[in-house]
Amino acid sequence: MKPFESMALYFTRAADRLALPENMRKLLLTPKREVQVQVAIERDNGQIETYVGYRVQHDDSRGPMKGGFRYHPDVDLDEVRALAALMTWKTAVVNLPYGGAKGGLAIDPKTFSPRELEAITRKFIDGIHDLFGPDIDIPAPDMGTNDKVMAWIMNQYGKYHGFSPACVTGKPVELHGLPGREEATGRGVGIITLKLLGRLSRKPKETRVAIQGFGNVGTHAAKFLHEAECRIVAVSDLSGGYYRKEGLDIPGALRYALEHKGTLAGYTQAERITNEQLLEIDCDLLIPAALGGVITKENAPRITAPLIIEAANAPTNMDADEVLDARGVLIVPDILANAGGVTASYFEWVQNKQHYSWGLNRVRQELDYVMTEAFERVWETGKTEKVSLRTAAYIVGISRVHRAAHLAGNA
Ligand code: NAD
Repeated sequence: MKPFESMALYFTRAADRLALPENMRKLLLTPKREVQVQVAIERDNGQIETYVGYRVQHDDSRGPMKGGFRYHPDVDLDEVRALAALMTWKTAVVNLPYGGAKGGLAIDPKTFSPRELEAITRKFIDGIHDLFGPDIDIPAPDMGTNDKVMAWIMNQYGKYHGFSPACVTGKPVELHGLPGREEATGRGVGIITLKLLGRLSRKPKETRVAIQGFGNVGTHAAKFLHEAECRIVAVSDLSGGYYRKEGLDIPGALRYALEHKGTLAGYTQAERITNEQLLEIDCDLLIPAALGGVITKENAPRITAPLIIEAANAPTNMDADEVLDARGVLIVPDILANAGGVTASYFEWVQNKQHYSWGLNRVRQELDYVMTEAFERVWETGKTEKVSLRTAAYIVGISRVHRAAHLAGNA
């Protein structure tokens, strides 16, 4: 199933509950604008190469559109369109005054030199600079892009429009970025996990957690949950999985990864397992924090965790979701679980607009407040509507977008 089709099916489940008429469904699913631009650069070997850059602006009923730029070989219009719509529902679930967008380039950034990456980013911005901006659409990092790329975007945008730090978020802290932005998605995952455990009257100490992915999101979620006394029994990255029944030494594993170019390859303080085994390991809570589409209808019956927190975007295929739902597995969906990142991006944008910086403690406090409010709203909706947390999150998001479109006179 293509990504947009899958998102549209989740949308339809919630739209059915809301009894949204057909014309409203069409309005809410149709992207406001989609652009494709030619991005040609000279590679280091002197050859000119041409790529296609995408930006899909899905909906702006609730405010300027917000969403990352992804640099990955699999990027295509359908995927960008699906991720843009997910951003619309995600910003609405956490009640940020934003719509949704997404963009990207189908390149493997690992095969580009820093000079080439800078050149392709600036060329991409040349092609779309008049279509985004602080009050229109605000990009951010996603897979394959980082704070450096955001700094080039701010600089290139400024050449056309003057000093505008609020045109992009996820910038380096020294260049109008936000202390706490980097940890925010993983921290948000941790906050949501503790709220869920609280609702289920489960003690963190008695909760065994497995985390797939030990990058930005996975490491910060592991750190937060370890400090909250959860027992992290397994983690994994591209090099495979690492398991210790009694609980891993998370500070030690974090130090190890930091000293080894971000990977756990060669880490010996745990039993080696495969990434497939990690997903199926005996634990109480599973956090996929790497790729999309890792929980499939094939492995879903073998997943033993009764609780799943979707830190990655779209880690659970639709048919797997049905299998898990039927088995009573409780899944906190991506549009709620990983919304800490866009929430911190919103804080960065607010501060850029005000030219005033908050400290890290305030960022953390405000993040806690936004994530808690969103969790409680989704949880209550799930209870009153007697639906899964995924459908509940879509109900919350879609109804807010629909209401805003209606009040503004668009629908
Ligand atoms: P990252 O690149 O920092 O880390 C990804 C991690 O996954 C790495 O440890 C990598 O080794 C591991 N990995 C890659 N392929 C794997 C595989 N096949 N099996 C196991 N591990 C594998 O990325 P990130 O920023 O941590 O993002 C992770 C996920 O969270 C993505 O789905 C992303 O879209 C989503 N997300 C990230 C943010 C954010 O702010 N970073 C916000 C929202 C959603």
